[in-house]
Amino acid sequence: MIAGIADRVMVMYGGQVVEQAPVEELFGNPRHPYTRALLRTIPALTGAREPRLQVINGQPPILSGPPQACPFRARCAHALPRCEVENPLRRALDGAPVGHGHDVACHWSPDGATLPEAAHA
Ligand code: SF4
Repeated sequence: MIAGIADRVMVMYGGQVVEQAPVEELFGNPRHPYTRALLRTIPALTGAREPRLQVINGQPPILSGPPQACPFRARCAHALPRCEVENPLRRALDGAPVGHGHDVACHWSPDGATLPEAAHA
């Protein structure tokens, strides 16, 4: 439904934006582990019926203050030691200013390389 009505999609987790992109880019090239997990929970509308819907294991974080670590780390299949001590800032993946192109807040990359320190949020 979102893909049919929106131009851009902003994905939030733990009270912060973790990924933002034009709708086709986000659905075709999700970069944040939470976005990727969310997209796996969408039931297929065509083809064979799945026996069970996918779930994201674990519980949402307790939001009692600004997180010092990544709020998704307890549920993340790609968590790194850095994720325990540093909440990642959003960074643009395409050279555009944050909020205009595709940006993501994560230390991990599906391309295999961890990302350098963000220059801005
Ligand atoms: S920063 Fe670390 S824990 Fe958080 S989503 Fe990315 S890889 Fe997972």
